[in-house]
Amino acid sequence: MLPGVRLVVLGKQGAGKGTQCVRLSHHYVVPHVSTGDMLRAAVKSGSLLGQKAREVMDSGELLGDDLIMEMVADRLSEPDCRARGFVLDGCPRTVGQAEALEALIAPVELDLVVDIEVPTSLVLRRLAGRRVCIDCGANYSVASPPRVNWTCDTCGGEVIQREDDTEDAIRRRLDLYERQTTPLIGWYTERGQLAKVNGIGSPDAVLGRVVRAIEHRRSHPHGGGRISPRQDPSSRGQAGKKRLSGSGSGGAVGRKGGEG
Ligand SMILES: [Zn+2]
Repeated sequence: MLPGVRLVVLGKQGAGKGTQCVRLSHHYVVPHVSTGDMLRAAVKSGSLLGQKAREVMDSGELLGDDLIMEMVADRLSEPDCRARGFVLDGCPRTVGQAEALEALIAPVELDLVVDIEVPTSLVLRRLAGRRVCIDCGANYSVASPPRVNWTCDTCGGEVIQREDDTEDAIRRRLDLYERQTTPLIGWYTERGQLAKVNGIGSPDAVLGRVVRAIEHRRSHPHGGGRISPRQDPSSRGQAGKKRLSGSGSGGAVGRKGGEG
């Protein structure tokens, strides 16, 4: 049986993070745990958490780490996540959340944190070209508009550019994202848990890169900055040197050799 995975996926808006999370969750047969989806569902259901979340959002504040982590802890404690793992999307956003997540899943560790990288210029083009039906929410773009005069092919509704999809608004969101995540990326890099993956290309191509990064990490469980020289001096800084898989190094997921 294919092993599951414990994965965090990072990426700015427009990097294709959501698409990759869905594909990764199918590939590894683990739930896609999206804090955005969970929050929307909680608000809709009117649960206690949803009411709290709505109050905070209505006041224009950002949701606090405690509330986010409470929600994530609940979800990750369910049997499907415990058995096979998860693809976590939207959390952590801060170093505080990353520390809480580490404590939450201990003694198990994340297999990898993947940062999907796309140049800002490309993201701006993608997002600024986005159009949406105001009635049914169907997605279009300048490159693939509806057949007739910005009228929805599906429902006949008006197809528009969202107010928060203007270039200025997008730039502001991207700046905020970068300010928030730079320390987080540094934190995971120090721990040797981060893999940067090129997000340019078809969704299949990007998925292939992410899967290879995960498999590489599993066959080199101590390949990152986490190793201490006392434990294993031989594997430091030897670029290109391959360790034999199945050599029993470290406790991470056992994986048979072979290059897939
Ligand atoms: Zn429509």
